[in-house]
Amino acid sequence: MDFGFVDADREFRREAREWLRAHPADGHSARGWERELGAGGWIGLGWGEGAYGNRTGTLTQQVVWGEEYARARGPARLGHIGENLLAPTLIAFGSQAQKDRYLPAVARGDEIWCQGYSEPGAGSDLAGVRTTAARDGSTYRVTGQKIWTSQAQEADLCFVLARSDPEARRHRGLSFLLVPMDQPGRIEVRPIRQMSGTAEFNEVFFDGAEATDVVGGEGNGWQVAMGLLALERGVSTLVQQIGFEEELGRVVRLAVDSDAVTDPVLRQRLVRQWAELRTMRWNALRTLGGESDPGAPSVTKLLWGRWHQRLGELALQVQGGAATAGPTAWAPDAYELDELQRLFLFSRADTIYGGSDEIQRTIIAERVLGLPKEPG
Ligand SMILES: Cc1cc2nc3c(=O)[nH]c(=O)nc-3n(C[C@H](O)[C@H](O)[C@H](O)COP(=O)(O)OP(=O)(O)OC[C@H]3O[C@@H](n4cnc5c(N)ncnc54)[C@H](O)[C@@H]3O)c2cc1C
Repeated sequence: MDFGFVDADREFRREAREWLRAHPADGHSARGWERELGAGGWIGLGWGEGAYGNRTGTLTQQVVWGEEYARARGPARLGHIGENLLAPTLIAFGSQAQKDRYLPAVARGDEIWCQGYSEPGAGSDLAGVRTTAARDGSTYRVTGQKIWTSQAQEADLCFVLARSDPEARRHRGLSFLLVPMDQPGRIEVRPIRQMSGTAEFNEVFFDGAEATDVVGGEGNGWQVAMGLLALERGVSTLVQQIGFEEELGRVVRLAVDSDAVTDPVLRQRLVRQWAELRTMRWNALRTLGGESDPGAPSVTKLLWGRWHQRLGELALQVQGGAATAGPTAWAPDAYELDELQRLFLFSRADTIYGGSDEIQRTIIAERVLGLPKEPG
């Protein structure tokens, strides 16, 4: 099965390509680029609702936009969490007033969001969240610590999973709150420096931070949070594969240019990588074709996470000795990392976020194979 592009899709592709050509990302800050995309109406294509200043597109057109964006080598999106996680969650669970307040700003590229789920004692075991939300009239006061919060240092708002009923245990008594980040003295963001030398993640400390919006009603945070995680694993797979294809192409070109391609084992690995990417694409298309299988999201995550790590390892093998030149954890400023070194380092995280490999296998074990639940 492949996408059947109709005339409207070809017209849409032409429009996307022309817009991207006329509006290069170079010269924009990450925020400036979000605003540029917003002004062009390109944020929110997949929302299914177009009342917020955004265009809407069919599934095929969303893939077309992803293809053209990758082809134009558009940068990683600062607005990803707002557009692809927060907005669909509000559309599914939010009140009309919440949609009207938050979605237009996401569509304009004006407000940047971060995701406040994980805590030092609650990662895979998210129901162990200890951050509290104490009601004070119509306001909640949020207190506790989040960790690994991507982009918190840039974000205007954070959606936070917190315990609004201190008596309730585990999945009960949690609420999904929308917290403005500009609250000096009540919110502190501390960047975490990674082995790549950069610091995209943060620890976020809340000390009585105020929030007035709860999505899905007080105490229903678990259902809202799980709805959001299902979105995180689902729709963007095909578009993500376009980026993978670009990266694999870069590794193949380097192998050819550097003569590494004369190594027969490396050739085998390159072709295997290509064949597996095709298989993942067919699988994603099959899933979009309407087949539902309770194990499918976990299988997809397991396949792409390890595939991308192997690509990182392959990239370093192709680079040979040059791959080890550059920064180290103890001297991170020694050299700038090149794209392939960065690919290798960042891909180590692919089997952790969005549900680690072990958690995906546990889901399959219990929900598909019917194995007994693992001991608590
Ligand atoms: C790139 C990246 C971006 C992230 N961005 C965000 C963000 O923006 N916001 C946010 O809230 N969080 C974010 N996270 C955090 C992410 O959600 C957690 O890292 C993830 O849920 C795992 O939790 P943990 O790190 O606490 O590890 P743990 O849950 O402590 O797991 C440690 C190890 O034990 C294994 N393990 C745990 N439980 C079991 C079990 N029951 N059975 C078998 N094995 C088990 C895990 O698979 C893992 O290998 C990000 C993480 C990464 C890597």
